[in-house]
Amino acid sequence: MLSLAQWLADYYLQPLGEVVFQCLPGYLRGARSHVSTRVKCWLLATSDVALIDNLRQRSPRQFEICEAMRARQSGLTALDLKKINPNWHAVVKALENKKILRWDWMEAKAGLPRVTGLPQLSPEQDQILGQIEPRLDSFAVHLLDGITGSGKTEVYLRLIQSRLDAGMQVIYLVPEIGLTNQLIERIERRFGSCFAISHSGLTDLQRYRAWDRFRRAEVGIMLGTRSSLFSQCDNLGLIIIDEEHDHSYRQEDGIRYHARDVAIKRAQMLDIPIVLGSATPSLESIKNCARDTYFRYRLDQRPTQFPPPRLELIDVRNSRFEFGCSQRSFERIEQHLAAAGQVLIYLNRRGYAPIVMCHECGWQALCRHCDARLTLHQSVPRLLCHHCGFSQAVPAGCPECGHDEVKHYGIGTEQLEQGLQQRYPQTPILRIDRDVIASREALKSRLQQLQSGEPCILIGTQMIAKGHDYPAITLSIVLDADQALFSASYRASERLVQTLFQVAGRSGRGDRAGEAILQTRFPEHPLMQALLRHSYREIAADLLRERRQFGFPPYARVVMFRADAIKLEDALQKLEQIRARLTSAQDFDALSCVGPMPALMTRRIGRYRAQLCLISEDYRVLRSVLAQAMPALEDLPSSARVGWSIDVDAYEL
Ligand SMILES: [Zn+2]
Ligand SMILES: [Zn+2]
Repeated sequence: MLSLAQWLADYYLQPLGEVVFQCLPGYLRGARSHVSTRVKCWLLATSDVALIDNLRQRSPRQFEICEAMRARQSGLTALDLKKINPNWHAVVKALENKKILRWDWMEAKAGLPRVTGLPQLSPEQDQILGQIEPRLDSFAVHLLDGITGSGKTEVYLRLIQSRLDAGMQVIYLVPEIGLTNQLIERIERRFGSCFAISHSGLTDLQRYRAWDRFRRAEVGIMLGTRSSLFSQCDNLGLIIIDEEHDHSYRQEDGIRYHARDVAIKRAQMLDIPIVLGSATPSLESIKNCARDTYFRYRLDQRPTQFPPPRLELIDVRNSRFEFGCSQRSFERIEQHLAAAGQVLIYLNRRGYAPIVMCHECGWQALCRHCDARLTLHQSVPRLLCHHCGFSQAVPAGCPECGHDEVKHYGIGTEQLEQGLQQRYPQTPILRIDRDVIASREALKSRLQQLQSGEPCILIGTQMIAKGHDYPAITLSIVLDADQALFSASYRASERLVQTLFQVAGRSGRGDRAGEAILQTRFPEHPLMQALLRHSYREIAADLLRERRQFGFPPYARVVMFRADAIKLEDALQKLEQIRARLTSAQDFDALSCVGPMPALMTRRIGRYRAQLCLISEDYRVLRSVLAQAMPALEDLPSSARVGWSIDVDAYEL
């Protein structure tokens, strides 16, 4: 782990101490002592029924606790006891003295029943396993490039089993755990309680316990999000990264790194295999498949025999809209509901409406701390900034000209939910976005409803495009993808195509064929046309050609220097100093250096941000310039007044 930390610090040009901190669970970063992972449990120490029955009259409170223990053979924890009697301590002590109770250290609860017999493999799955298994004893990157619903997970599970059988441990990374209850259940049924889970929804202590159980090899599998990559163990035999294209693998604050890339390095250092899987692999991974250590496998068949739905465009240029949906979309929704299907509607904008303005003078509700609009939220109800969390009351009239009414424009998920509820009062409307997911219970009940297979409409943001599997969904609709066509980011088209194929792939996974439609005002746009005609692989190949032509990643490497300050001039000036130190390096002229200039969203959370970008198609030149300049750069202070940081392989330009 120290070698990996050293590599990460060198490669991403980050301070080693902070990197080491990053590799440890948050709980250990404080000065706390070690905590046992086991739970203290109280059990009955006697089988003498009469002895307990005697308590009924003499000591009802003692009797009450004994009764509860009789009902639960596995024992009661302090938490359980507290629910029965808030003053349980004294009662339990008395029972211990009478030798009626004893306590013991217990491990985690008994889990779901394990499956007997494994699912039949498809010929494709069987063939891929046959190719990977002989290569499990050394480093190689295996990319499973399989359409949505083609059974990548079953391949992972077989590989995990084969590593566990060899006495080794496995790290299994997923982008998001909130919606992957089915995956957790599937792993539990397959491997029993032999796994630990770690993600940001858990407390520091829970995450530490997962980390510790894996480290002691009490469990064979660590299932988790990005930072679980740093789980320690002595006998790691395999790393799996599902949905490897997902952006959440990139950490964008503090220590900046890409979990996929670090994982590949870790696998290489340990000389073990790593398996990447996606229906829409990143352009980086596709390009890397030209390397000796990369193997690419294709899964083109769904076990259900239905091909994944192709996207169909709905031209909405002259349509009448109601809460973001065109009349033709309504027709399709109604068809599918009538046929007892579930409908998924993707709208990547939470809240009620993204724009609040005055019709008279053009005033807009903007954030006080960011260059961003405030979003109207009706459930709160307030105007919220999605970047810094700033919120304010909804003004009754225009604060600028005093006009007595402000209007809102655009559609967010709240408004869509409300509209659909009015239009389809008999149909359950389930909204899943960050505002809802904050409540575990709300999320759980929605997921149960989906799993029940009853007709319903699911509305969601980015998070519902991630690897979940609800077989009753037969129609996916993307309401508004047009913004991304004109984005300033060079990654926008890759991201759009990935999202659209992922959303489309959520439908038709069960015993019925699925459909996917996309509302657009630009049906003639080349990218829309490509979506209509081509597979993801074909579009990805085109995007890669474009990137090569323009000299963008993955054909070039990018190092971004960022600065932020209370005043924009200070941030720009800091980057000027950095640039001056870089220019003195030999070969600096062989790089492209862009900036300093203000960042895209210049003001964010009250600070002005600027950037200086180094791009080169020759990685060695870039590293050499950085190596020469680093000693001088490290002398440049980074303070609260003007902070600066380096972002190696920056995601956005
Ligand atoms: Zn006004
Ligand atoms: Zn803000």
